[in-house]
Amino acid sequence: MRKRVGVFVCDCGTNIASVVDTEQVAEAARQIPGVVFSTTYKYMCSDPGQEMIRNAIQEHDLEQVVVASCSPRMHENTFRRAVEAGGINPYLFEQVNIREQVSWVHTDKNMATLKAIDLVRMGVNKVLHNQPLQISTIPVTKKAMVIGGGIAGMQAALDIAEAGYSVVIVEKEASIGGKMTQLDKTFPTLDCAA
Ligand code: SF4
Repeated sequence: MRKRVGVFVCDCGTNIASVVDTEQVAEAARQIPGVVFSTTYKYMCSDPGQEMIRNAIQEHDLEQVVVASCSPRMHENTFRRAVEAGGINPYLFEQVNIREQVSWVHTDKNMATLKAIDLVRMGVNKVLHNQPLQISTIPVTKKAMVIGGGIAGMQAALDIAEAGYSVVIVEKEASIGGKMTQLDKTFPTLDCAA
């Protein structure tokens, strides 16, 4: 696979930039083997930020993209769509979290910046091993199997059945009920456990 990685370091306003020297991170990223382009931007998830990524893919013939910003839970799909619009398979993209994992939990700017650089280095090396994937749709049999017919298994089976799906319970003992069947009466109602 060709190695033409673009690295985009986000300031998140002052959320990241007040604790991490993002310019220094972008500069360090340029020294990582495989990286051919690196830059910073104030709000990478904004429309202009995404446009910057799309344009850089074209202008620098990028093959892989790393965005150093917030948690992937927040914007992984945003950036996957952006790189796909730029012409790159969306799985040749990695998001590095330098906000929740760096700027929000550290105060020492020098150490935080070094940690961010380390995370970017890991992200670049990860993306260089990514494979372009294709999304496929496979029909599934909408039927569940619950292993264990104790109280938890029985309740899980009932919940699935009430949701409209067929369920099979598998139990290794001769009868269902699990530990509950070994009890006589249960607190506080003194109901018969069986
Ligand atoms: S991409 Fe994440 S870190 Fe960057 S501006 Fe958007 S929310 Fe903030």
